[in-house]
Amino acid sequence: MFISENHHFKQFEQKVWLSSPTMYPDSMDYVMEAYQANWMSTVGANINQAEKSICQKIGCNHAVALSTGTAALHLAMKLAGEQLYGKPAIGKGALDGHLVAASDMTFDATVNPIVYEGGIPVFIDTEYDTWNMDPVSLEKAFQMYPEIKLVVTAHLYGTPGKVDEIKEVCRKHGAIIIEDAAESLGASYKGIQTGSFGMYNAISFNGNKIITGSSGGMLLTDSAEAAEKVRKWSTQSRERASWYQHEELGYNYRMSNVIAGIVRGQLPHLEEHIARKKAIYQRYQEGLQDLPVQMNPYDGENSEPNFWLSCMLLDRDAMCPQVRGERDVLFTPVHGKSCPTEILEAIASINAEGRPIWKPMHMQPIYRMNPFVVRDGTGRARTNAYIDGGCADVGMDIFQRGLCLPSDNKMTPQQQDRIIDVIRACFE
Ligand SMILES: *Cc1c(COP(=O)(O)O)cnc(C)c1O
Repeated sequence: MFISENHHFKQFEQKVWLSSPTMYPDSMDYVMEAYQANWMSTVGANINQAEKSICQKIGCNHAVALSTGTAALHLAMKLAGEQLYGKPAIGKGALDGHLVAASDMTFDATVNPIVYEGGIPVFIDTEYDTWNMDPVSLEKAFQMYPEIKLVVTAHLYGTPGKVDEIKEVCRKHGAIIIEDAAESLGASYKGIQTGSFGMYNAISFNGNKIITGSSGGMLLTDSAEAAEKVRKWSTQSRERASWYQHEELGYNYRMSNVIAGIVRGQLPHLEEHIARKKAIYQRYQEGLQDLPVQMNPYDGENSEPNFWLSCMLLDRDAMCPQVRGERDVLFTPVHGKSCPTEILEAIASINAEGRPIWKPMHMQPIYRMNPFVVRDGTGRARTNAYIDGGCADVGMDIFQRGLCLPSDNKMTPQQQDRIIDVIRACFE
């Protein structure tokens, strides 16, 4: 309805997804093995093998397979909290009342686990070079809140953040790092895999991730003691007794051996998925190069993303008016200009799926009262003081001007070209 009448783009018969599972028969073999051996619980060869493969791939000493990436992040928070502040009383979280610095432009599963353990997320603004945690704003946060002892940092859309800079700021202030590598499995920084830079790290096998078990996640660490604790906590904290004996709070967080079979069958295809995702990114880059847009950027000298999602950012002067409320959005079409909403609607009109940029945590109603730090101090004071271009901080700006493009492994080059044509038409 909003695409100019001159354009008639045919709809795809089968929907092109943002990022859907790409499955292989080897997964079924491992799942069948679990069936036939009757290893249908949270013990078995698939779990052991999947953990081993991940350790080899990431270069960490221990991987503990869990029900979700969120569970892995939760137990990572618990480990860090107990290490920093001691074991909490029953009913209290391990981070009870303590401030924790966290990525701001990320999925909420990065930060919710801080709150599960009673912590208070302090959101750190984003930088434009990789769309991840800004080390300069992180340094500012330590100046403003010297009590921060824990930093949770994500690699958005599979692009490694400024790892060295963040590590240096944390070293200087004696803070522990938890790395959320849920979106970045297989991505590397200076030749080292993401998921190995923090003390406790998490990956995810959720249905839309680059490798999937339909669900699932792992906690990664070099500490044998931490891995042992997580194995115990995740299986209801059973003590070594013939009856159910409990000295600590437990969780039912262990991965099922059936799910692990799916993961096991997927893992050998990681590199081929990354190559495919990279080709998608490059095809967009080429197809959109003369438009007033840029792709989600990365540090090509130091890092190799896994290109999980291809995204684009419109130039400021190419934006038509677009206003977002809490749940609704309006825009005014302008000749020669466009906006994420117009492009997302155009993509949807041909039966393909894009998505807005993950809405920054400091803009979420649930976290609106939490501290938020930008380069020159608190971002809260000026969150509503719109500066030139309409935004008060980097995260808000990228959310306003950016979008995620259909990045499905199974999208054909012909389908992608049609999506590119549809995007191009938005700027006519
Ligand atoms: C998917 C995701 C998670 C959570 O993983 P689940 O396995 O879905 O619980 C955490 N953080 C980020 C950044 C994610 O994208």
